[in-house]
Amino acid sequence: LKKYYLLLGSNIGNSINVINKCIEEIENNVGVILNRSSFYISEPWGFSSNNMFYNIAIEIASLLKPEDLLEYIKNIELANGRIKNETQWSDRIIDIDILFIDNMIINTPNLTVPHKLLHKRMFVLKPLSQIAGELIHPIFNQNINSLLKECDDKSNVKKLITPNI
Ligand code: ADP
Ligand code: MG
Repeated sequence: LKKYYLLLGSNIGNSINVINKCIEEIENNVGVILNRSSFYISEPWGFSSNNMFYNIAIEIASLLKPEDLLEYIKNIELANGRIKNETQWSDRIIDIDILFIDNMIINTPNLTVPHKLLHKRMFVLKPLSQIAGELIHPIFNQNINSLLKECDDKSNVKKLITPNI
């Protein structure tokens, strides 16, 4: 049994509904949801767009191997309207990224864990710190709260105060 931390993001369509539906599909096919952050609203990171992103971090327990879990989440993205874009960062209906898997370090062509940019992104660190502030990054040997304090990403990330469901 492994503990996975995932980040879901969306900036087109009915983002909150799509994210909630993907979490339901994760619960039905991938593993038990142990915890979920609030929704956070953020400006696009690394590209410009008028559409704000909705992000949420979740913690799950799953028996799946990392490569298999990645396949499942890619299929959930596609089933929910994800279109494969040429450019790396662009508007998207749903993106699901693996942030951490226990304290594993993975570097394969398909999978880099911990996610290689998580420490540079406020839209990841803020929701993650809400559910896993004490979690240690196995490469930097620092917890999420400490990475959040040191992060120099100045982009605006706001917690959505309305109920999640
Ligand atoms: P991005 O999330 O960078 O915007 P994509 O969602 O299109 O881009 O993912 C591109 C590829 O990144 C995926 O097909 C996957 O194989 C690879 N990848 C590497 N590490 C991870 C990770 N930690 N979580 C999710 N995908 C990853
Ligand atoms: Mg992705």
